[in-house]
Amino acid sequence: MSGFVAGMVPAAGRTRRAVHHTAFHRTYAVVLTPKGTSVATRKPFVGGNWKMNTNRTTGSDLARAVSDGLVNLDGLDAAVFPPFPYLLTIRSILRDRGASIRLGSQDVYHQQDGAFTGEVSIAMLKDCGVQSVLVGHSERRHVMGEKDELINKKLRALLDAGLEAVLCVGETQEEREAGHQEIVNARQVRTALAEIPAPYTDRLIVAYEPVWAIGTGMTATPQDAQEMHAMIRGLLARLYSQASADRVRIIYGGSVKPDNAAELFSQTDIDGGLIGGASLKSADFVAICKAAAETAGAKP
Ligand code: PEP
Repeated sequence: MSGFVAGMVPAAGRTRRAVHHTAFHRTYAVVLTPKGTSVATRKPFVGGNWKMNTNRTTGSDLARAVSDGLVNLDGLDAAVFPPFPYLLTIRSILRDRGASIRLGSQDVYHQQDGAFTGEVSIAMLKDCGVQSVLVGHSERRHVMGEKDELINKKLRALLDAGLEAVLCVGETQEEREAGHQEIVNARQVRTALAEIPAPYTDRLIVAYEPVWAIGTGMTATPQDAQEMHAMIRGLLARLYSQASADRVRIIYGGSVKPDNAAELFSQTDIDGGLIGGASLKSADFVAICKAAAETAGAKP
């Protein structure tokens, strides 16, 4: 491709221009390279997945401490994903403190209402102020037995309802040892996105979370993670367009800690993280968020 994108003024080196995306109030910059190809620089996203941890008191304390720790931090979208029973409590705390932290849900059911004992609908989540929802987390896939087909239904319903969805994919240790990581992740992404139209990808975040790295203290090397993120972005470009793929945030999850976050997040295609264990310690979660904001500012 040659020549600059219409409406943008070429300059020596690179030119940045903020683009306000009305569909989800997301801001990203378009960077024009000297050759004129455009590359989106994505605002990092860091989510804290509290899993089945905390109670009303400890969750409230955590939300307060995270809000206070992130109070002046720009250049980052942060979210917390508390257990269902505490959503309203955590929403009040975030609102009272004027925090711009998104309220997230760890799961959802795709049906509108009816006889689905134990499940929670999109309308119920919206009613509780939820803005972002995890889909296909490895514990849903491997402990609860969720299949790609169900994950696709949930993802379609969420994006259709205008919510932000964090689609989690990742290979098991066995699959990596067999060298099948690319096939597995590509299959998970492809089947989850079946029949999802291109404009919906503006509300999509993909979390690459190798199953063997979740909660184990074993982190993918930044190079291995980058390789998988680049593969996923390439697949998104083939499924949709390069422009769509350049806008989707692809975040990494799996034993991210304050001491390994910056190196992971400084990789070209790693746009933040999904944090489990470390999100339960406010100081660690805040440090990881800061690492995401700082490394994004320093990316070429
Ligand atoms: C997760 O729950 O998505 C996760 C990545 O957990 P941990 O950070 O504990 O590995």
